[in-house]
Amino acid sequence: MSDSQYDVIIIGGGPAGMTAGLYASRASLKTLMLEKMIMGGQMMTATKIENWPGYPGGIDGPELMMRFQEHCVEFGLETGYGVVEKIIDNGDSKTLIVDGKEMTCQAVIIATGVIPKKLGLDGEEGLVGRGVSYCATCDGAFFRDVPIAVIGGGDTAAEEALFLTRFASKVVMVHRRDELRATKILRERIAKNEKIEMAWNSVVDELLSDNTGLTGAMLRDTQTGETRKVELSGMFVAVGVSPTTSFLDGIVKLDKGGYITAGEDTHTNIPGIFAAGDCRTNILKQVSTAVGDGAVAAIMAERHIEEQQHSS
Ligand code: NAP
Repeated sequence: MSDSQYDVIIIGGGPAGMTAGLYASRASLKTLMLEKMIMGGQMMTATKIENWPGYPGGIDGPELMMRFQEHCVEFGLETGYGVVEKIIDNGDSKTLIVDGKEMTCQAVIIATGVIPKKLGLDGEEGLVGRGVSYCATCDGAFFRDVPIAVIGGGDTAAEEALFLTRFASKVVMVHRRDELRATKILRERIAKNEKIEMAWNSVVDELLSDNTGLTGAMLRDTQTGETRKVELSGMFVAVGVSPTTSFLDGIVKLDKGGYITAGEDTHTNIPGIFAAGDCRTNILKQVSTAVGDGAVAAIMAERHIEEQQHSS
């Protein structure tokens, strides 16, 4: 077997990919986990994970992911960096084009996760790093004693708003409805936090800026249509996520939201290609569900390889 030939190649180094890597390498399959940028996935930007069992009081996302990685490497998982441009299905084997080079394997596990959605406003892209951010853990500390806004009403927005109260003078939480989507425990913490001001039934119509960066936003009331100006030094956008699957278009079946169509057994429409974690159509996006998916995908990949060997 050459260095570019594997039993299993896992695309994505978050909780799903790492767990698949642990199971596959522990099953003595020659396994490579490829990551585009930073091992650990979304958890690298999570300040505290309170719903991963075994850590009363919570654990920091990066610390948990460091432990995951140490654990899978212990069983012989190979890790590497590279951008997968394409997967070619040759039937028995799969070819991956990674940064222009070919790699082959018998089974592929896609665990590419999701990325934050943008608001799509004029000037948004140009203000990234100059007031607009999609990651409170990464950028929160740059906004000490200044007013900021968090856009969105889900778990991410709620956690980011709570975290940002450590730095900001005030956090305006802008939500398009009159009720948060976030879980009850987070809703209660938001309601109790005096630094958080709710802008209910509101959306951002326009970003205001000068040559130093973001200076404010025009908010529109979704009920009355009225607009008002708020002065802000920072804006954290947390309006949901999109799956990182565009490179798979035309290769595996995606649903209309771009998520990989795969059931609990992680099988995609292509034998030998499996999908695990947040990039798959699933009802819950948590570390625990990603971990479960990773384990299932690795076992399915192992079975697929055994079946291929018996039939040849
Ligand atoms: P989400 O649950 O999809 O919430 C997105 C929020 O943004 C919703 O409140 C939505 O409003 C709002 N929104 C969407 N598009 C918008 C737009 N164009 N303009 C204004 N607002 C918009 O996304 P998420 O909070 O990133 O969470 C993603 C998944 O990860 C969820 O399953 C979540 O439970 C999970 N997660 C879990 C934890 C945890 O367990 N600790 C932490 C973070 C995330 P509507 O409510 O009106 O639709």
